[in-house]
Amino acid sequence: MKDINKHDLKNNLKRVASAPGRFRMGKKGWDLNPNDFMVIAGPCRVESKKQMTAVAQTLRENHLKLIRAGAYKPATFPYSPPGLGKKGLKIIQDIAHQYDLISVSEVMAISEIPLAKQYIDVFQVGARNMQNYDLLATIGKTRKPVLLKRHPGASLRDFLGAAEWLLYYGCQDLVLCERGVTAPYTHDPNARWLLDITIVPAIKRISKLPIILDVSHSCGVREFIPSLTAAATASGADGMMVEIHPEPRESKSDPNQTVSLKQFCALLKKVKKIAQALDKKVV
Ligand code: PEP
Ligand code: MN
Repeated sequence: MKDINKHDLKNNLKRVASAPGRFRMGKKGWDLNPNDFMVIAGPCRVESKKQMTAVAQTLRENHLKLIRAGAYKPATFPYSPPGLGKKGLKIIQDIAHQYDLISVSEVMAISEIPLAKQYIDVFQVGARNMQNYDLLATIGKTRKPVLLKRHPGASLRDFLGAAEWLLYYGCQDLVLCERGVTAPYTHDPNARWLLDITIVPAIKRISKLPIILDVSHSCGVREFIPSLTAAATASGADGMMVEIHPEPRESKSDPNQTVSLKQFCALLKKVKKIAQALDKKVV
């Protein structure tokens, strides 16, 4: 192995290599079964109670458990509006409670953790913060479940090194998420990254940690999402993440890669068919 060697597996990645792959989310959670295909869906950012209600209803109607939405948003340029912060966290908590859903939401800074941990179920570490080791250690110490996104330029070794930091500091429920890597060509002016499906078997030969694929950020183009969704489901990944919104074109961030609730329901039909053929259960 060029990327990860035997020494790494024994010494640097010992927790990644031996982790049982548990994803138990507090009182609300369930123990992830190797045949589960988890679908995490929701808007890029929480915008209003109305928006989150529509999303949550769609998830419930489809018997899904995991809702995503950011209250703190990383942005490429400083001119984008900031996330709703505490107001957004409250909306996420209310909706998750009302619809019996598990919430996944990003924190970007150590200072956000004490507040956010009271409102959300799963901490998301965004791609840009994958190697923010102080952040990883502080999140690990909360012992909350974590979704760790891969930086677009990170090797498998760097990605799993970040996972090792979380596990070392106490995280016991960890899901890895590939969200597109830097590549010379991306086939569309709006596509900044390419979905690296190869990472699924590459992780699976080293670790039992669940790995999911983000089909939205990895392509950035709405029309590409059905194809990536089908591929993600068939890839052997443990799940996928997708951005959905009642009015995708009005979404305050990532409007080009967000699908409508109707489109999402159609995608799910396809996901369920493929999952069934592979003896997987969509959760
Ligand atoms: C997100 O999931 O909202 C996000 C910002 O993703 P990433 O960190 O992968 O860019
Ligand atoms: Mn987004």
